[in-house]
Amino acid sequence: DLLERVEDVLLNRRPDATERLVEFAESFKGVAKEQIEDLSWREAPVGERLAHAMVKGITTWIVEDTEEARQQAQRPIHVIEGPLMDGMNVVGDLFGAGKMFLPQVVKSARVMKQAVAHLIPFIEAEKAATGQAAQAKGKIVMATVKGDVHDIGKNIVGVVLQCNNYEVVDLGVMVPAAKILQSAIDEKADIIGLSGLITPSLEEMSHVAKEMERLGMTIPLMIGGATTSPAHTAVKIAPHYSGPVIYVKDASRAVGVCSNLLSEDARVGYLAGIADEYAAIRERHQNRSGEARRVSLSDARANAFKPDWAAYAAPAPTCSGLKSFVDYPLAEIAERIDWTPFFLSWELHGRYPKILDDEVVGEEAKKLFADAQAMLRRIIDEKWLEARAVIGLFPANSIGDDVEIYTDESRSQVAMTYHTLRQQGEKPQGKPNLALADFVAPRASGVKDYLGAFAVTTGIGIDARVAEFEKNHDDYSAIMLKALADRLAEAFTELLHQRVRREFWGYAKAEALSNDELIAEKYCGIRPAQGYPACPEHTEKGALFDLLQAPANAGITLTESYAMLPTAAVSGFYLAHPESTYFSVGKIGRDQVEDYARRKGMALAEAEKWLAPVLGYEP
Ligand code: SAH
Repeated sequence: DLLERVEDVLLNRRPDATERLVEFAESFKGVAKEQIEDLSWREAPVGERLAHAMVKGITTWIVEDTEEARQQAQRPIHVIEGPLMDGMNVVGDLFGAGKMFLPQVVKSARVMKQAVAHLIPFIEAEKAATGQAAQAKGKIVMATVKGDVHDIGKNIVGVVLQCNNYEVVDLGVMVPAAKILQSAIDEKADIIGLSGLITPSLEEMSHVAKEMERLGMTIPLMIGGATTSPAHTAVKIAPHYSGPVIYVKDASRAVGVCSNLLSEDARVGYLAGIADEYAAIRERHQNRSGEARRVSLSDARANAFKPDWAAYAAPAPTCSGLKSFVDYPLAEIAERIDWTPFFLSWELHGRYPKILDDEVVGEEAKKLFADAQAMLRRIIDEKWLEARAVIGLFPANSIGDDVEIYTDESRSQVAMTYHTLRQQGEKPQGKPNLALADFVAPRASGVKDYLGAFAVTTGIGIDARVAEFEKNHDDYSAIMLKALADRLAEAFTELLHQRVRREFWGYAKAEALSNDELIAEKYCGIRPAQGYPACPEHTEKGALFDLLQAPANAGITLTESYAMLPTAAVSGFYLAHPESTYFSVGKIGRDQVEDYARRKGMALAEAEKWLAPVLGYEP
């Protein structure tokens, strides 16, 4: 009724405000219903109220209830050990049983953290007075490794562990091995957890393992993050450390892994199981790499994709050189969001919009989506984030597997050489061994071809907001904001790519595709991004950023591992050829690595380091 009345008032004033309010009201109906519908639980004894708030994720009365419970308790710690842990155990059990999902757990954790934050001064005071401290199940030092900035996954795991009564020492992002290990020693940690997303982090994780061995450490090492895998953990990390090394697939597994690792009874059997499993993985890996069929680089080149350049050549771009965008309207960007990966980042699997009606996760997906819409509104209305980008369109030709990008149409001065990698897997008859350079006309063809470059971010301004949420013990909102910023970055990339095709380059002026068709990549041309399978080598981003002057023009910088900062960023190249497609380079041979190192003016060992994830041999 209230909402209807407010709506009525607004209707007579600002037509667009109504739309917003309706949207707002819709989003909050579910949440509000739950909180307002039945307040009878507020009549229950305080212990039950705390447990209820925890299970339902309601923060509204958490501080006053916690205070009431504290006054009734003998010791402040009893509030945590009693009602708060009871509530959290219910959440943990339901999550473990697949009856509750990650967003709800993170919301419950928010309740827990706010309650604990209220109790901490009292617990500290008691500790100072009596020397009695609380006992956590174990202490875990966690970090995103050196050179990497991605921490959504790490933060989620941290939250889930904390609300299961593990003490988490989170060292943040870009943490060097020495600092991780020193903290683990100083903190007397029981476990170290490493996280990372980009492939250079895989090497860094091996390095941390070697350092743990060198220092004679014995505590378990947990490994997680998007590009990590059981295979990588078993083959590239575990052999370097004689202590336990365990791959953790996602947050829902983290608690199980930790409790096994720290359990007197289960530990030995658990570790023996892992050791057998990883030994089997290594054995399979050995056999497989033995039988992989690869062709030489020269044979692969002879089997390159060779389009008929007389039949197709991209038109000259309408707009040449660099073009930058500041403060690009977020509302326009938001319309292009591909929501499916958003749900994935919260460990809800399924395609949007069908996921909203999914039998199992539908209810949770709807609530999460409503929360996302509400925050997205605020991001836009209150300008929480700024979108910036720079694009460049240049004359370009390929020379072998490299693409020369010229400063101008005279094609006499090279602004950047883009080094691409070629597939070396043996191909069936008629299938080429692709390299991205194949989609750009060879210099020798005499065809004047072109190529585009881009760097896009929607993360300007995010740090202050995230810090504010974290200060308020609101991990749910902090993670939500990061996930939305990532979505906006991809959406902005999609939007600009379309504008490039239609306006700035203009090779597809008449294109008219729906959002779904864009998400399904029905357009002509591709936008390969370094680090992905067609171009797995990250250091090319260095030259790309110089070409675009991305730090000055778009406010994006690179870390030593070539991760982009802000994290909500995408960069890459635009290729226009109608037959250009994404593919996977796959494993490459020593001949190509040597050739690549020579082309890049890089020492072989360094090239092998950057190419580690795709090396088809042991260096
Ligand atoms: N619509 C999705 C796009 C995900 S893929 C989203 O919103 O998340 C993200 C980007 O990675 C693509 O747009 C493209 O730039 C790049 N990409 C995907 N596959 C690739 C491949 N095999 N090689 C190189 N780049 C790739």
